[in-house]
Amino acid sequence: MRLLLVEDDRMIGESLRSALRGEGHAVDWVRDLAAGRASLASERFDLVLLDLGLPSGGPTAAASAGDGLELLAELRSRRDPTPVIVLTARDAPGDRVRGLDTGADDYLVKPFELDELTARIRAVMRRHGGRSEPVLEYRGVSFDPATRRVLRNGEPVLLSSRELAVLEALMMRPGAVLSRAQLEDRLYGWGEEIESNAVSVYIHQLRRKLGADFIGNMRGVGYFLQPPPAAGSDR
Ligand code: CA
Repeated sequence: MRLLLVEDDRMIGESLRSALRGEGHAVDWVRDLAAGRASLASERFDLVLLDLGLPSGGPTAAASAGDGLELLAELRSRRDPTPVIVLTARDAPGDRVRGLDTGADDYLVKPFELDELTARIRAVMRRHGGRSEPVLEYRGVSFDPATRRVLRNGEPVLLSSRELAVLEALMMRPGAVLSRAQLEDRLYGWGEEIESNAVSVYIHQLRRKLGADFIGNMRGVGYFLQPPPAAGSDR
């Protein structure tokens, strides 16, 4: 998945970015409201992790304090449904209520355990995708976002973290055709060098490991999960 982390604390930001990258996500990290606003205006993210106490940023207001809830309110007022988890050191119930009422999907009070954050990310993504079951399944292939394990017809399949990221993007939206650029977005954060044929290489590996007909290619448009053979066909 592609995640936007809006967090001004360097230590928390660095540790979250490296931990979430380790889980196979592309993570873009910005440190003030202005940069968060610019990112959300120009890119699509699967999920936003939003600190509340943030510097405003921008050329004129570098030192003044801002509020992550402003960003959240702006996002929701333009009907952007991107899931948002609020990260906050404030533990007054009023702030949590305000965060949820402004349109946050969940919140975590600092300090928190990384395991809890990743579990909440998975739960929010399930709800956002209208799923209740934790494991993604498609045509004999199952992917468990919690353990990052993939089974094909019950047998474990070993995938690299980038192969997993491509598979996860496709399995989260079965039926959708994802362009090469959309898949690259899920593989690389800003500042990471994109290898020009990387997506083709990962698709090739996934087909080799999951079956040649598991992933289809619409020439010039993108990749998709092949629908199951029609009922009543002879296979
Ligand atoms: Ca902060």
